[in-house]
Amino acid sequence: MLKKDKRSSPVIGCYTSNIDGHDIQYMVKRSARCRYARIEFKSDTGLSVVIPRHYALERVPVLLQEKITWITRQITKHRLNLNSIRTQRIAIGNFISFLGRNIQLTKASIIEDSREHAYLIEDKLIVNCADAELEEVVTSWYRKQAFLILKQKVDETISLLGVEYTRLMIRGQKTRWGSCSRKGTLSFNWKLMMFSEPVIDYVVLHEVAHLKEMNHSKRFWAIVEWYCPECHEHRKWLRLYGQQIAGLTGE
Ligand SMILES: [Zn+2]
Repeated sequence: MLKKDKRSSPVIGCYTSNIDGHDIQYMVKRSARCRYARIEFKSDTGLSVVIPRHYALERVPVLLQEKITWITRQITKHRLNLNSIRTQRIAIGNFISFLGRNIQLTKASIIEDSREHAYLIEDKLIVNCADAELEEVVTSWYRKQAFLILKQKVDETISLLGVEYTRLMIRGQKTRWGSCSRKGTLSFNWKLMMFSEPVIDYVVLHEVAHLKEMNHSKRFWAIVEWYCPECHEHRKWLRLYGQQIAGLTGE
């Protein structure tokens, strides 16, 4: 029998506090084993505060206030500004999210027919097309990246779990991140490309694990937890922010 991972602490909830003019979003977790409150920052889950058993929730904003310089530095460093990616819109100059970081839509100085319609250079997505085609070009770039990135991740996870699949499909479902059919077709939403890789890896693992267990039974979760002990944090994150982030126009 596989044991549940004991490292992850229960999540109490997600909050937003205005600290020194910054809207800071964070997750609060309570841990029976931690003696002092601590602040963590991960590129996939963002800011978390882990508090001991009897620590009052009201004290958390004070703690954040004390560490505001460090926190804003982390947010800038990881380019995971959830506030800005919530309202992303496909327009030149705007930032959109790709693999958990913000990339800026930038128009090519000259439109060249010989080049691809969109290509990434560092943190700029250069679009080489007329304004009217912008949305189509950007979404097809995402779909293409989705296929390349997910194909590799699926293949790796397939061999890890010793299963087989028949087909990989990239879709644009409104409410689903991925699915697995009885015939072995794995489908994923291209909007997953907006999330950081650990979240994408979790979704891939979840669907591939369905090739072993076509249900959400304890046996299914034991497989997922075994390969991804932080799966419940990723799930929670997808539920909290996923819909807002994936509001990117281009359905
Ligand atoms: Zn499932």
